[in-house]
Amino acid sequence: MTNYPEIRAQLELEAQTLRSRLQKITGDLRQEDGALSADFEEQAVELENSEVLSALEDQTHRKLKQIEHTIERIENGNYGVCNSCGDDIALKRLTAIPYTTLCLSCAEEAEKSNA
Ligand SMILES: [Zn+2]
Repeated sequence: MTNYPEIRAQLELEAQTLRSRLQKITGDLRQEDGALSADFEEQAVELENSEVLSALEDQTHRKLKQIEHTIERIENGNYGVCNSCGDDIALKRLTAIPYTTLCLSCAEEAEKSNA
């Protein structure tokens, strides 16, 4: 059994980047919550900005969770196995999309049913 050291290192690096991005976003949001300017137009812009930030925070958070989950799967030895059919996922596919939980043929099936 392999524990995918290269993919894991790549994932941990990505998780670190996302965590610091998240911290920065959260910091920005907090700042804006504290002091809304009196000028209405400025307020509107600030609200718009915090909406964008919130969406970004959401997105970043979700991606981070996905990566953390993937690292857990590596630790548990469940990584690289298709969630749908139980087959091994090709290493080439894992390297390209490290947090995939489906093998190529199941992913294609899923895409077809989504379309
Ligand atoms: Zn499969």
